Amino acid sequence: MSNYKLGLDFALELDKADTLSSYRNQFHIPKDIDGNDCIYMTGNSLGLQPKKTKAYVYQELEDWATLGVEGHFNAKNPWLNYHESLGEHMARVVGAKPVEVVVMNTLTANLHFMMVSFYQPTKTRYKILIEADAFPSDKYAVESQLKHHGFDAKDGLILWKARKGEELAISDDLEAILETQGNEIALILIGAVNYYTGQYFDLKRITQLGHKHGCMVGFDCAHGAGNVALNLHDSGADFAAWCTYKYLNSGPGSIAGCFIHERHAYNKNLNRYTGWWSHNKETRFKMRDEFDQLPGAEGWQLSNPPILSMAAIKASLNIFNEVGMEKLIKKSKKLTGYLEFLLKDLGEDTIKIITPHNPEERGCQLSIAVKNADKSLHNKLTEAGVISDWREPNVIRCAPVPLYNSFQDVYYLVERLKAILND
Ligand SMILES: *Cc1c(COP(=O)(O)O)cnc(C)c1O
Repeated sequence: MSNYKLGLDFALELDKADTLSSYRNQFHIPKDIDGNDCIYMTGNSLGLQPKKTKAYVYQELEDWATLGVEGHFNAKNPWLNYHESLGEHMARVVGAKPVEVVVMNTLTANLHFMMVSFYQPTKTRYKILIEADAFPSDKYAVESQLKHHGFDAKDGLILWKARKGEELAISDDLEAILETQGNEIALILIGAVNYYTGQYFDLKRITQLGHKHGCMVGFDCAHGAGNVALNLHDSGADFAAWCTYKYLNSGPGSIAGCFIHERHAYNKNLNRYTGWWSHNKETRFKMRDEFDQLPGAEGWQLSNPPILSMAAIKASLNIFNEVGMEKLIKKSKKLTGYLEFLLKDLGEDTIKIITPHNPEERGCQLSIAVKNADKSLHNKLTEAGVISDWREPNVIRCAPVPLYNSFQDVYYLVERLKAILND
């Protein structure tokens, strides 16, 4: 039995009772052609801009203008160790220790850097296991790693598939794959929250299964960071990587996050690519020293980082730290549960929600298969001021984001969808 009710009044009631509702005003909401707020449901693709971001970026532009190179030491937020506070704030968002997290590079680049360290194939153990519906970039990255090490990408790739006629992958099937082929698998790389189905996997269980069979385990958290309680440290995963432009609202192409478990933090023997930013901070600028490995996730950095991008991340993370993931997730469950309730009222013969029903197995995104629909449905939604995401053949992905989406947004999303479907 759900406690939700139909009708606009109920949406307004929920908004009124929502202690996080004021955060919407801290974001720029795109407008439709009539100048009204869009129903923005694509925070899973590109998060909205916090109003504070401009000032944060502007501060760095100002310091660069007035200080030039001295900004490394004398900027209001000295650039030299700018990334350190970000690492700490980011660690809280993903449930890790500060030593385990660094903000650097971009997501796919970080996956490659992680594989340099954690994909160490041998003649007999060289395969990589991914989920069948993995994000294309991850699949391409993994295939290229196999080739790079001289393996055939088809032979080396093992797919964890949903059962025939089903959409969601089941842990028991993963266990079965590992029972039979575990000793050939060097690395398991899974999207923590699958981008297509919205399924949030049990990271701890997957990690334990993988480790039991001697595999390294990493997660792509692009759809998890800022969306679900990842608890990366407790999951025991060897590594994880995520972008900051989806739920973390840090701007298109903004630099990414990376997690390396504490157990690897002080291991200087791990294979890795290095640069001057992976070198001991105390002697980095002496320039002539032998390489001296920096401990922790920071030891995977290569270059001095892009401050303008980091300023946008800092602006966003300050909001996350003020709210805290716990409160955010609490609202998220309520908001997505409400969306699910309204969608179900449209009738199971019209729509089918692919995403798991269990709130512990999903974040805020619901992937909705619409019977007999084609892309014109998506275009009509866009005309009606609803920004959603279309995936062939018939799936709309909607992500009501607890930081800036309201219960009213969810109400109007479903009302407009209903109007189009009944047209
Ligand atoms: C968004 C996304 C990417 C994008 O990778 P970039 O390197 O940031 O372009 C990769 N993997 C997953 C799972 C994603 O959701």
